[in-house]
Amino acid sequence: MKLKVLGCYGGQLLGFRLTSFLINDSILLDAGSPTEALSLEEQHGIRHICLSHTHLDHIKDIAFLADNRSLKRLGGNKGNRTIHVHSLPANNATLRRDFLNSHIWPDFTAIPSADDAILQLHDISAEQPFEIDGVRITAIDVNHPVPCTGFLVEFEGKQLIYSADTGVTDRIWEIANQQPNLKAVILDCSFPNAYQRLADISGHMTPQGVKRELQKFNAVGRVPVYLYHMKPETLNVITAEVEALNVPHLRMLTQVDELLF
Ligand SMILES: [Zn+2]
Ligand SMILES: [Zn+2]
Repeated sequence: MKLKVLGCYGGQLLGFRLTSFLINDSILLDAGSPTEALSLEEQHGIRHICLSHTHLDHIKDIAFLADNRSLKRLGGNKGNRTIHVHSLPANNATLRRDFLNSHIWPDFTAIPSADDAILQLHDISAEQPFEIDGVRITAIDVNHPVPCTGFLVEFEGKQLIYSADTGVTDRIWEIANQQPNLKAVILDCSFPNAYQRLADISGHMTPQGVKRELQKFNAVGRVPVYLYHMKPETLNVITAEVEALNVPHLRMLTQVDELLF
């Protein structure tokens, strides 16, 4: 499995892109930054988006990815043009009502026509695995102010867990502990410790919260845990606080990371 970090931050600043991970060149976990991070040719390779939730920092580039794809379609290239979005029914309903509603952005689920659209939204259910491009995906409910799932990603007998945006949560650790060949966990760590109250209200974690969460994880110290969603303007403080935790194989992702399992 190849995981390329396109963006791993919980805020957008010069040089810091929003959350998006590319699996095996064709599957996105969230879509905060693919059109900023990928060439047009690389964007055209994307066939699926597993969407954790509908906060803007995770859906933003669904809009621009669809727009770029539509130009390829109108140019007469019919190859692999549909982008399949997989998310909870509540999230797909929000995308239709509040985002792809012809006011905020064109309804690419009906362009050029409903049965041959640039975007197709697929309802998924928590803990009901599905397979896309040979990769098995299982959504797992997590703890955020809107409906949100992390994802278990399985390919060639190896597993990856992506928590998505979450505060204190339990089920994803139970599932992580059941995996026979877990290679990595990608975990929310948005704010420095001084912002614990804000983290609790907004459904995110701090370094001290990460340390508490990792008590639920049997493979801590053996399986790497990569933190993402850091607020860029507080990155120096979060970095120092994560280092002070002194947990082996715990580190923050960066935008140049490409993980191979
Ligand atoms: Zn969020
Ligand atoms: Zn977010």
